[in-house]
Amino acid sequence: MFLTRRSFLMASGAALGAGGLAELLGPQPAREPQGLLVDCHVHLFGVGDADSGCFLSARQRAHPNFRLLRSLLEIEEAQGPLDELYVARLVAMLRSSSLQRAVVLGQDGRYDAQGRFDREATGVYVPNDWVLRVCERHPDLLLPGGSINPQRADALDEVERLAARGVRLLKIHPPIQAVDPGERRFEGFYRRCAELGVAISVHTGTEHQAEITSTAHCSPARLELALDQGCTAIAAHSGMCNFFDPEDFFADLLRMIRRYPRLYCESSVLGTLGRFRCIPQLLEEPEVLARLLHGSDFPFPSHALIHAPRLRPSATLALSSERNLLERDYRLKLELGVPAEVFERTARVLSIK
Ligand SMILES: [Zn+2]
Repeated sequence: MFLTRRSFLMASGAALGAGGLAELLGPQPAREPQGLLVDCHVHLFGVGDADSGCFLSARQRAHPNFRLLRSLLEIEEAQGPLDELYVARLVAMLRSSSLQRAVVLGQDGRYDAQGRFDREATGVYVPNDWVLRVCERHPDLLLPGGSINPQRADALDEVERLAARGVRLLKIHPPIQAVDPGERRFEGFYRRCAELGVAISVHTGTEHQAEITSTAHCSPARLELALDQGCTAIAAHSGMCNFFDPEDFFADLLRMIRRYPRLYCESSVLGTLGRFRCIPQLLEEPEVLARLLHGSDFPFPSHALIHAPRLRPSATLALSSERNLLERDYRLKLELGVPAEVFERTARVLSIK
């Protein structure tokens, strides 16, 4: 079904015969990573047709991505509930990839001024209970990553509850959840996360896959409050943007990394088409690479062809036909020269065994 590692190598070998000298002179990938390889940024999405509690607003369902992702995951309506098929595809891809584990993320919604869930204003919702249920079915593969909008009235109770269920990472998405992660009143929330050993991953950089409020709180600098409370924090997407975005938060990331030893960043979504400049830029910053973790942003697909000038011809060929989205993303980054340590670091930082 998917291109396995073996067939990837065979395809590479076949192209090597045809590629000749250019192949030999092309850039060489970093060494193959060793040990427990974890993808720290994998999404669960759903429409709520399997008693999952998930939902997508009508506007999200009308987004071209909804169709594209269904087709990439080979999900057809007649086959059964979408939410279950999604999980089945994710598990199949992870099992046949070079990775051993994935942290799957929930997606909390928007809240009103009293801290009550605002369903009307929420476009994408994946409840923590669905994440826990799915992960309990596959404890050898999937690790639960909860999502808590710190504005919610019961935020502290929810951290306690999730920590007791083994959650080691929480996701906050400022532009989708309409929250500024740097608001002073969240101090206690972050302190509790730090005490319980729960790391937080915060979306940084621009966002084009869902309805957002603004990019006002998308800089890694907004993680200052959480870091000052002792949290281990991850700047998701390393504060990076699409080539057409006017924003640029990368200098903020570098400044924050120099200041906070507990700040990490990750590579999710950086293999996609619009972010083709990002990995080459990361590779030029040793200080950032030393804190970088591997993440895919599954199911958003990585794209090899746009990197062709930087890849061995055989790799471009093999990656372009790789249908396993997790493997394609992993191998593309490796081929581009992302060091093996980046893939090996995630398990250590999140204490995953
Ligand atoms: Zn994501």
